[in-house]
Amino acid sequence: MAATIKTGTGKATAAASWLGRLHGSATEAKQRAAVDKAERAAATTILHPNEVHGEYDAGRTLTTTLGGVQRAITADDLAAFRHNVRTVQKSFKAGIRARQVLDLSLPTDRERARDEIRMAVPAGATNGKVRFITNAGPNSDVTRHHVLVEFLSYGAAASAGRDSAKKMANWLRKEPLKFDCDCGRHRYWFRYISTIGGFNAGRAENGFPKIRNPSLHGVACKHVLRVMAEIESSGAILGFLTKLLERARASGDAKASVRHAQSDAEALAAKQASRARDVKTSTDRAKEREAIRAKKALADAAKPVKPPKRTAASTRRAESAAATLAKQFGMTPEQVMALLAAQKKE
Ligand SMILES: [Zn+2]
Repeated sequence: MAATIKTGTGKATAAASWLGRLHGSATEAKQRAAVDKAERAAATTILHPNEVHGEYDAGRTLTTTLGGVQRAITADDLAAFRHNVRTVQKSFKAGIRARQVLDLSLPTDRERARDEIRMAVPAGATNGKVRFITNAGPNSDVTRHHVLVEFLSYGAAASAGRDSAKKMANWLRKEPLKFDCDCGRHRYWFRYISTIGGFNAGRAENGFPKIRNPSLHGVACKHVLRVMAEIESSGAILGFLTKLLERARASGDAKASVRHAQSDAEALAAKQASRARDVKTSTDRAKEREAIRAKKALADAAKPVKPPKRTAASTRRAESAAATLAKQFGMTPEQVMALLAAQKKE
């Protein structure tokens, strides 16, 4: 018993240290964004949009890993890049929802989200923009990451009085959104995809990821995936969005902001850390439902079939049927019943 309590406390402590202080977290996120912006401005090996389009000077000797080996970029590569850009833009025409972020993610990112990212807590919200804090993975040089989610239907949810604030919050979390994360995976692999797909909530990135992700595969890092799983299914996130919408409804211009109290945020982080959150695609879920159905069908088939119970009414019905048959075939009702019983045994 004592050991259980100790484990619980340990998890709560770990979750609190991952979360850190909420006060100052917005400033930390801004500082990281400023460093990111400055490094991007100083980068000299960016493949610009006009170069992807074909105006590429081979003298720049930029390289790509398209095909698996790092080598100089050719005109054929540029054509392949343009093809990949078109494919991405076609699949994101109608924006992206939390469910789609999970569905379109790479299995490796989902695995990492499930195994390594134990908490995703909203720190605060201003109108439709909600700042989440997640813990960092075990090999990271920071303890936490900042994920920004912009709910695109916030204005509509805050203004339309067709339903309660809670019901509108539940609607809002399933609507299209934009996101950003301050980790390296988002920065080098996915920010270009979210920018050209139209769902980037942070700094836009128009440099083609020719080294890290020339095939433009995947859509979100493990931090964003954990946040999306929480947005989709967590009651606490629903409560947070409901509070935001309640405030927005009470204001004259649908504007509102909410700050998560440190103690509430720590309690939520501890709760999340103590249980696993599914980070599953729709296909995974459908397969699971199918497996449960198949298992139940098998169990039903294996059950022995019970003979129907004899009631007074059923006995009376049988006797009267026997009497009718007996009259027809010139037998006594007892003879008919004995004949039926013998047939059943066979
Ligand atoms: Zn990330």
